[in-house]
Formats: sequence, structure tokens, C-alpha cells
Amino acid sequence: MGSIVKPHAVCIPFPAQGHINPMLKLAKIIHSKSFDITFVNTEFNHQRLLKSQGSATLSRHPSFKFETIPDGLPPPENLDVTQDIPSLCKSTSETSLEPFKKLLFKLNDTTTTPPVSCIVSDCSMSFTIDATDELGIPDVLFWTTSACGFLAYVHYNTLRERGFIPLKDPADLTNGYLNTVVDCIPSMKGIRLKDMPTFLRTTDPDDIMVNYVIRETTRAKRASAIILNTFEDLEHDVLKELSSIYSRVYSNGPLHTLENNLKNKDLELLGSSLWKEEAECLEWLDSKEYNSVVYVNFGSIVVMTPQQLVEFSWGLANSNRTFLWVIRPDLVSGDSPMLPPEFLDATSGRGLLTNWCPQEKVLNHPSIGGFLTHSGWNSTLESISSGVPMICWPFFAEQQTNCWYS
Ligand code: UDP
Repeated sequence: MGSIVKPHAVCIPFPAQGHINPMLKLAKIIHSKSFDITFVNTEFNHQRLLKSQGSATLSRHPSFKFETIPDGLPPPENLDVTQDIPSLCKSTSETSLEPFKKLLFKLNDTTTTPPVSCIVSDCSMSFTIDATDELGIPDVLFWTTSACGFLAYVHYNTLRERGFIPLKDPADLTNGYLNTVVDCIPSMKGIRLKDMPTFLRTTDPDDIMVNYVIRETTRAKRASAIILNTFEDLEHDVLKELSSIYSRVYSNGPLHTLENNLKNKDLELLGSSLWKEEAECLEWLDSKEYNSVVYVNFGSIVVMTPQQLVEFSWGLANSNRTFLWVIRPDLVSGDSPMLPPEFLDATSGRGLLTNWCPQEKVLNHPSIGGFLTHSGWNSTLESISSGVPMICWPFFAEQQTNCWYS
């Protein structure tokens, strides 16, 4: 009698924190259904994970393995640098297909893992469909953004056809034109141009990101299925609309709550933070009163000006609230972030500053009373699940759309 061959899913996230986190959770859930998993990071992010998680954690599970492909960009100067998103979009879409195919052939050529039975690929890595077409296996695209963000991207083409974009004049960025209501998107009644993902804020008819968004959302029609990290009660109308455009759209979020129900203790230790989490802030939160602390975190990509940093600092000082503020080493443009000494004096004893924190645990902490957030989709879902009210400062991409819906 022949032995039963286990199914083997290859999971490939877009190389950014907000994509790797939900993909790892999804991979763990698929693994719990008796799949072998190969998780494919870029070489750079794998180095970062080795540093933040430790090599023993990444290699402890024989049926959950990590592989790498290059990202096509010159190596950043250190491991704590957030890579530029448009450059990553361009380089991965232009250079990653061949190394990815080579990896699939390698995986199919060994006896240590079962043959690859399907790919679960980030929607922003849809070049993988060309590889799965060749192999004749399914490619499931995982859209890690909100469904509303996805639908807004899908309608970039409509906006172009109707002449909303490209903008006619750079002045349109500031003269109120972005307040124009977009009346041609079903299920997004009343949405304005400024609530749509920010990549449309360009006068360039050949803008890389606009073309990229249109190409990815069009290619998504070739996927075997589309998975979204959201849930029906939250985004019902938008999901219904997406299902009229794409066949087989599934919402299976919030993935972080499903991950918490998994039983595999080995995999529980496997995290995906690219920065080392500073867990001491949890003890500090233990010493604070219920519902009393403002949590401030702008995620992994936001880069603000020194002036914006100073404005936020005085906002926090004048709020008279206790706060936990996560300032990533590269949060502020230019040299290292400079907080005014007067701010540090004024808030001494009631504020904690840290570089990177275990956010899900922080949001679940009883002392947290509110979240000043950039409206990244993971942060939004994590905050909703923990019942923490949000004050939103959307920065870019579909964060504006998330904020409009929040
Ligand atoms: N995150 C974290 N610690 C931090 C900041 C962020 O663990 O100090 C996690 C957060 O829980 C979320 C992800 O990083 O899962 C950020 O994703 P999001 O979509 O909110 O924003 P992005 O970083 O993509 O802008």
C-alpha cells in the first residue's frame, strides 16, 4: 500500500510587515489542516526574521519551513530599514517570477517535502499565477487589505476611464479637488477622491503605482480564489460587490483571532515581527488603571516629518493622558527623531516611549483606552477585535479608505 502524500502549500507574502503578519497566521491555519507549509520571504526579510525571532524558532518545525527569494533591490544599509513600497512593487513584479519558479522546481525535486499542491500568494505578488499556470496547480490570492480597500483599488480603472485620474494639475492636490465625490462606485456611495487609496494623487498618466494597481486587480481575475482578512458583519456590502466582480471571494478574518485558537504550541512561538518586540511595556501597562492609556503607533511604513512628530508630542502632552508611544527607529524622516526636551519634562512619569511592541497584546491589555493609529488594516482589525476606540491619522495607500469606513 502506498503512503498518503500530504498536501503542500507554498505561501508567499508581499515583503512588508503588514503583509507578512497575516500571511503567517493564514499559513499556520492551513498547516493545522494537515498541510506542509513552505513560507517564502525575501532574503532581506528572512535576515530580519532570523535576527528578531532567532534561527531556532524558524527551523523547529519539520513540516513548516522557510525559503527565500531575492527582492531585486540593492541591500539596505541595515536590517532595521523599512524598504520603499513602490520600489518593492516594481522590483518584485519585474524580477521575482524566475527565482520563484526555480524554487518551486527545487521543492518538487526533493524527497524531504511533498510536491507543491497549491500556492497562496499575496495579491501584490500575483506574478505567481504565471508559475502556477505552468505547473497546473491552484493559486489562491490573499488580499491582506480591507475589502473596502480592495474594491477601491479595483475601481482605479473606472476612475481613469471617467477622467477623475490622473489629476489635471498638481494644484488639484491642495485646491479642494480631492473633495470631489466619486459617484460611480457601487456600494461606496459618498466616497470622495481623498478617501480613495492615495496612489491616485498623481498627474503622471504613466504613474508606476496606478499602473501596478490596475494590473494586479485585473490579474486577480485569473486566481483560483481570493481570500480576504475580514468578516461579513464588518464589510458585507463591499464583499457582495467584490463577489460580483471576482468568482470565489472568501472572507476568513480576523486571522489573528483564529490563530489564537490553534492548538500547536510549537507554532505558537513562531512570530513574524521584523523588529525585536519590547515586551517590557506590558509590565508598565500592568501598573496603569483600567481604560486609562492612549496607545500611539503608526505601524511599519509611515515616515513622518520632524514637525509632525513635534505636533503629536504636544498633542499628547496637552491631552494630560497617560500614553504608550511606539517610535520606530525610522519613523521620522531625516536624522534620528528629536523630541523636544520640554515635552519629555512635561510628560515625565506618564508616558512610555518604545521602539516596537507586541501590538496585539498591547491592544488586549485592560489599561488601554484608545488607539491613535495610521489606520493600517491589521491595526484596524486588531483594534476592533479588542474593542479599543480609534483616533485615525491615515498616512497612505488604502489607509484613507479604512479611515473613511471606520
Ligand atoms: N505591529 C507590531 N508592533 C508594533 C507595530 C506594529 O506588532 O510596534 C504589527 C501590528 O500588530 C500589525 C502590523 O505590525 O499586525 C502592522 O500592520 P498594519 O496593516 O496595521 O500597518 P502597516 O505597517 O502595514 O502600515
